[in-house]
Amino acid sequence: MDWEKILDSLAQIREEAAAELAAARQEQQRELWRVKYLGRRGRLAQLTALLAEAPPAMKPRLGQEVNSLKQHLLNLFQERRPTGRPEKGQNLSFPGKEIFPGCLHPLTQTTRLMVNIFVRMGFGVYTGPDMETDYYNFEALNMPADHPARDMWDTFYLNEQHTRLLRTHTSPVQIRVMEKMKPPFRIVAVGRCFRRDPLDASHSPVFHQMEGLMVGSDISFSQLKGLLIYFCQELFGSETRVKFLPSYFPFTEPSAEVSISCVICKGTGCATCGRTGWLEILGCGMVHPRVFRAVGYDPETVTGFAFGMGIERIAMLRHGIADIRFFLQNDLRFIRQLSGSR
Ligand SMILES: [Zn+2]
Repeated sequence: MDWEKILDSLAQIREEAAAELAAARQEQQRELWRVKYLGRRGRLAQLTALLAEAPPAMKPRLGQEVNSLKQHLLNLFQERRPTGRPEKGQNLSFPGKEIFPGCLHPLTQTTRLMVNIFVRMGFGVYTGPDMETDYYNFEALNMPADHPARDMWDTFYLNEQHTRLLRTHTSPVQIRVMEKMKPPFRIVAVGRCFRRDPLDASHSPVFHQMEGLMVGSDISFSQLKGLLIYFCQELFGSETRVKFLPSYFPFTEPSAEVSISCVICKGTGCATCGRTGWLEILGCGMVHPRVFRAVGYDPETVTGFAFGMGIERIAMLRHGIADIRFFLQNDLRFIRQLSGSR
């Protein structure tokens, strides 16, 4: 074998390879080039195999030259990677492929917004178990077994004796917090709730609530009013009007329902507000003395208020969502529509 000639051919391969790569405009041609020169059975691999047979005197120089050529071709291949270089016929004015990085679920967005308003006012955030006992869900909240108000909160029972159930509201968290803490304190509780409602446009057997509780030595209804008016205007805009109507809940006395001026028609009357101009969004009241007694507080010295609302309802009003089932259907078109809002 003429080793000097092989050495000379290296320069020729170097030139040929560079010219061929420059001519390779498409990815497929580049790949063919790579296989031809740098592949497992390519030109460089053949040369490397030959080295074993070279006479000892030639070996170092040949080895060096072959390695240098190989490195050169690798560099060429890397440098000429056609990144950002338009191929013939490629239209750079086409819009790019949309990448959807994901977003928070609309309910999570609304929950965070609501909770943050109270966090800014010094409220702590608490959660409790979805599975509750009859005691925490009803009894301690002034609803003994024969209380007619229980009919408003029919739920899913987890045992024959009806002592374990899926909570119908977040109010059990109030009891759990009061059992552990001494007044004064202010907290909100958020979480999933369950009721035996058929699924339709405005009812869901699974939904979310946010609940608030403020307890101290001289907490008044006027403080509750001020707090909730502030909350409603933070959430729906400073022009929002807020109305308190007397109501009934077993765990508060007195109790009130709170309505806001309709966010759709601004109070003139539309289909969403049933032509009344008002939307009922939450319930509230002064904590009933029996609830305080149940957790070992003295109602003569301790006062407080509580309020609660459905998060789905608030989110539907914020975004003009007509059907509660959209929250549960996992339809990405729905999620993406609200991905930009916060
Ligand atoms: Zn309206």
